[in-house]
Amino acid sequence: MKGLMMHRPLKIADLITFAAENYPSGEIVSVRTEGDIHRTTYRETAKRVAQLAHGLKKIGVQEGDRVATLAWNGYRHFELYYGISGIGAVCHTINPRLSAEQMIYIVNHAEDRLLFVDLTFVPIIEKLREHLPAELRVVVMTDRAHMPQTSLADVLCYEEILEGEPEDIVWPDFPEDQAAGLCYTSGTTGHPKGTLYTHRSTVLHAFNMCVTIPKTLCEGTRILPVVPLFHVNAWGLPYGAPLSGASLIFPGGALDGKSIFALMDQEKVFSAWGVPTVWLGLMNEITQRGRLPDGFGDVVVGGSAAPRSLIEAFEAKGVNVCHAWGMTEMSPLGTQCNLPPELKKLPFDERLDRKQSQGRRVFGVEMKIVDDEGNKLANDGKASGHLYVRGNTVTSGYFENPEASKTVFDEDGWFCTGDVAAIDPDGFLKITDRSKDLIKSGGEWISSLDLENIVMSHPGVASCAVIAVPDPKWDERPFLIVQAKGDAQPQKEELIDLLAERVAKWQLPDEVVFVDALPLTATGKVSKLTLRKTYAEGNE
Ligand code: AMP
Repeated sequence: MKGLMMHRPLKIADLITFAAENYPSGEIVSVRTEGDIHRTTYRETAKRVAQLAHGLKKIGVQEGDRVATLAWNGYRHFELYYGISGIGAVCHTINPRLSAEQMIYIVNHAEDRLLFVDLTFVPIIEKLREHLPAELRVVVMTDRAHMPQTSLADVLCYEEILEGEPEDIVWPDFPEDQAAGLCYTSGTTGHPKGTLYTHRSTVLHAFNMCVTIPKTLCEGTRILPVVPLFHVNAWGLPYGAPLSGASLIFPGGALDGKSIFALMDQEKVFSAWGVPTVWLGLMNEITQRGRLPDGFGDVVVGGSAAPRSLIEAFEAKGVNVCHAWGMTEMSPLGTQCNLPPELKKLPFDERLDRKQSQGRRVFGVEMKIVDDEGNKLANDGKASGHLYVRGNTVTSGYFENPEASKTVFDEDGWFCTGDVAAIDPDGFLKITDRSKDLIKSGGEWISSLDLENIVMSHPGVASCAVIAVPDPKWDERPFLIVQAKGDAQPQKEELIDLLAERVAKWQLPDEVVFVDALPLTATGKVSKLTLRKTYAEGNE
């Protein structure tokens, strides 16, 4: 028998309407690319979101259209999240740190119709313009006074799109599984793959994060998303914060320890979210100044494993560390490691042991670990296996990419994370390894296989491998091992120059070593395990 309750579709725009009504003075503070600090509230933002939505329709944006953004964390980017999805179009956030090749691929693959660009990134688009779809229109995210001189034709100005439009709107109706957001993530091979979020998955994710991290996401707290809006929806903060009544402090493009400290201090940020590399920078600044930023009490670390020393440094100063794990394909939150009351009483060292794990699952995400044959392993804290997930906030397939989608689900429809993990009887997840051949440097991916393919195109290279080696600042860096062909003597500089033609500078290997022969596995593949033992583990 069916129940008899109303069925209203879950929609993203309802989050900002709710915030405007319930937390009208909740703040959005932004460091602007124009150089100053901008302040607004949820009430004012809801009005501008309505104006933006009207403006988007006027310039021809229709349901299902992909509208891209290339921007830092700031209020205009936040408005785009709501304005675009509110009218049933898809907000496609692009990572400006990608190589030119990847960016060109992504914009063409997504068939973006409009591209909203921060002032800082206009030069990138000028360089790529001829490779982007001819009908793509560019909007610069500024006002008329700050519009740049540009070689781009037919450029629009963000503030002019909003100008004169009504400050209220009746949001259109559409099903809750309508696409709302698109975010590409690097694959081990080939091109980046798109995760296409729905209104339903996004709103449920906002609920999940508010109920599992309630002391951070609540009315009156001030949260700093250093995690970019172009990286998995800034881990869901643009949705979770308005739902809970927390204020958002957007840092713009200055993400060094000094700038972050100054902003946190001035804005009394309670909770800061980002990858370990950023917190190492902040911790250096804290150590130099001999004090914490005013009001700081909570840090959410994810994207890569949080080093014990980092957790220890914050916890010793009374800052709660919440270690979180997730993926682009999971919206992203999977687990979080705030401790239950009984574990908070543990001695400091034992608490750190616990906090080093990735924590317990959020509501709505199920996890299992399996062996190489797909047999389920016990959650005994000892067995380590391939980690699979399923849930309403997990992807069901990559955007327009059936080939890639085929490879990531098991027979029962669970998604393979590419992480290797153990789960203990209390539900704590510990990531122990990564089965996907990728390197994560400062929170951004580098594909080993892409680098290897480029190096292999050098006539003097017989074989090569790229592995991740631990790095105190970036967490991991790429390391290239080369076996030359016959008498050839390829030089390190030649190989780096070859790579530099195709990949972004920060993706270039720091080290290149030449060996007589690469170690092989029983099946004749290069044994990365052996290479990691030789070159990576010694560096830890
Ligand atoms: P992304 O899709 O770029 O957010 O990357 C997701 C991947 O980053 C995961 O599958 C893990 O390999 C890694 N990752 C994210 N958070 C953590 C964490 N807390 N500890 C270890 N690895 C992590």
